[in-house]
Amino acid sequence: MNKDEYIEEARRLIAHAVEIMTPEQVGQWEGVGAWQEFEPEQTPDYEKLKEGYAELDKIVHNLTVGMQAALIDAHHNGDKSGMMWIYNALEGPGNLPDINDKWSCDANDYWLAHKTDPMGPCEVCGKPSGIMSGGHVACCREHLDAAKQQMRIDEAL
Ligand SMILES: [Zn+2]
Repeated sequence: MNKDEYIEEARRLIAHAVEIMTPEQVGQWEGVGAWQEFEPEQTPDYEKLKEGYAELDKIVHNLTVGMQAALIDAHHNGDKSGMMWIYNALEGPGNLPDINDKWSCDANDYWLAHKTDPMGPCEVCGKPSGIMSGGHVACCREHLDAAKQQMRIDEAL
């Protein structure tokens, strides 16, 4: 990763982290303030970049350990107890999912629609895509094949 890519990736990761954190969490995160004042074009300060990455690494680590703790709790005390870890982690910063969301009827569709860098709608049915091949995106293998077949028909005409 070259310097510009490194800076761009750090900016993207921090912007996303700030987006999902509460104002209180952002206030507690010293790396954010340091990063927001940082002008890489004027002062390439790799120490601040490293601080920003270190803070992001802590966030990812704690989210991972929280999910591990949820599974451990579910193993010992049942699924409902384990899910409380997930609920509490989302509820605190106001990230509980909207049950009326267009894709909330199916967990996988919700994931594909709301994860970072979604692939976009299936070319056949419009559901969130989970597979990509030959420049086509689709929700399933059947629709991917249909999209490719349609392209061959369109090209033949
Ligand atoms: Zn589809």
